[in-house]
Amino acid sequence: MEVLKPIKRNVLLNPGPATTTDTVKYAQLVPDICPREKEFAQMMKGLRSDLLKVVHAPEDQYTSVLFCGSGTINIDVCLNSLLPEGKKVLVVNNGAYNSRAVEVCRYYGLPHIDLRSSVFEQPDLAKVEATLAAEPDVALVYCCHHETGTGVLNPIREIGALAHKYGAIFVTDTTSSLGMIPLDVVKDNVDFCMASAQKGLMAMTGLSFIIGREDIIKASADYPKRSYYCNLYMQYDYFQKTGEMHFTPPVQTVYATIQALKEYFEIGEEAKFARHRAVYEAIHKGLDELGLETAIDRNIESGLVVSVKYPDDPDWDFEKVHDYCYERGFTIYPGKISTTDTFRLCALGDIYPEDIEEFFKVFREALGK
Ligand SMILES: *Cc1c(COP(=O)(O)O)cnc(C)c1O
Repeated sequence: MEVLKPIKRNVLLNPGPATTTDTVKYAQLVPDICPREKEFAQMMKGLRSDLLKVVHAPEDQYTSVLFCGSGTINIDVCLNSLLPEGKKVLVVNNGAYNSRAVEVCRYYGLPHIDLRSSVFEQPDLAKVEATLAAEPDVALVYCCHHETGTGVLNPIREIGALAHKYGAIFVTDTTSSLGMIPLDVVKDNVDFCMASAQKGLMAMTGLSFIIGREDIIKASADYPKRSYYCNLYMQYDYFQKTGEMHFTPPVQTVYATIQALKEYFEIGEEAKFARHRAVYEAIHKGLDELGLETAIDRNIESGLVVSVKYPDDPDWDFEKVHDYCYERGFTIYPGKISTTDTFRLCALGDIYPEDIEEFFKVFREALGK
């Protein structure tokens, strides 16, 4: 695609939205179109099928359902739509995004168990199993794959296997890992995963999607309807009948996401994973050189988010450092650990180790001031 003029490039070190390519930005500049046209439905069909490929989901067992909204809409939709009457949700909770799922359960009045554990560690699988053994009513096990609040990567394959052993479905929030860490829904025992277009796929905000087992979605037609706008079966059924979203889609974001997927497949899963990894290594190298400590054991880090402890210095001021870096094109982000003061440096987006080296030059200057 022909690029018209360069757009100022910002290096986003926040956990999404991510730095995008110019070609993705320009993909949004299209002739006005009514999204009820066949041409648009055809585009969404291709998009839905490409999303399955990203997570290696067999077309005959899985489907993808698109929603207009930020990533949290997926958490809401999965929980309110996929729980049969009289059954319980088990949230394996070691962080802020799992706590968000617990809140969704609370808002809908869904029977649930909040199996909390330390935000600094992966969940204890023996406790997950003991809970499942003691609670035969659990029909849906939920756990976030990459806890973006800390950077901890959770063992979803093992949790999914436990869910299945006890006859429950497994739903995982892969918003901050999909398209960055290779995921294979069959091997990883995932019945439903989710993301939004602006994170791993490096497209724009406003489009979110759930990839999941079609037989379970069909079965959910008979489950209690707890939301009108956010019902998974209703949206799926509308796609099946018309090829369209039930309500107005984020038109320009759909174009951007199609371009982003094209670029994703051009790079390829392994090479993209390696690039994120290289950015992550560069972040740790820069922090080590400055003597800054991180909050999470590297062995359980996703390789996408680093939680950095505030330096032990009375002159440290996150806001001031943030503003200094921001003015120079680098965005750093506050932490999300209630007991420890941290900020986050993330390896999402179209960024490279050289960007991180440039960032640390600016960050060093900021610290000096
Ligand atoms: C970003 C993110 C979400 C969605 O957050 P929004 O603000 O609604 O986009 C959900 N889960 C995880 C793990 C995330 O990183």
